[in-house]
Amino acid sequence: MQNLTRDELRQRLTACGLKATHQRIVVFEAVTELHGHHPTAEDVYQRLKPANPSISLGTVYKTLDTFTETGLIRRVLSEEGGKRYDSNTITHSHIYCSKTKEIVDFEDEELHELLTEFFSKRNLENFEIKGFSVQLTGNKVEPDKQINISRVSK
Ligand SMILES: [Zn+2]
Repeated sequence: MQNLTRDELRQRLTACGLKATHQRIVVFEAVTELHGHHPTAEDVYQRLKPANPSISLGTVYKTLDTFTETGLIRRVLSEEGGKRYDSNTITHSHIYCSKTKEIVDFEDEELHELLTEFFSKRNLENFEIKGFSVQLTGNKVEPDKQINISRVSK
C-alpha cells in the first residue's frame, strides 16, 4: 500500500464506521506508512510520537484494537506469539524469518487455486472455510538482502 493522503485515511476510517478523529487518523497513518513491516503497537507509537507527543502507548494499543475489530487492519501473530499489525487486508500469506523477525507479504493466485482445489476434495465437517493463508517459516540466508519470491520459469 502506498502512503495515503489524510483525506484517503479519513475516508477509510469512515467506510469502516469509525469517526475520523485526529488520533485515529495519525495512528492509521503510522500503520500504513509502516506497511510491509507488520509493526507492533510499540513500532506504531515510535513512528507517530515525534509529531504527536500527546498520544500515549495505551491509546495506540486501544486504537489498534478498535481498527482490528472493524476490519480496517488485521492482527498478525509473530512467531513468538506477539501481536503485529497488517494494513493489507486482502487475503495473503506470510514469510517469517526467525533470524530477523521479519514478516513479508506473499500473494499468489496459483497457491490460492491449489488450496481451493485441495479443500474441495476434503470433507471438512462442521466448519465453513472463509479463507486460508500459508505461513512459510525459516531463516534469511543473507540478512542484509531482501526476501523475494518469484515463479521459476520452465
Ligand atoms: Zn501481511
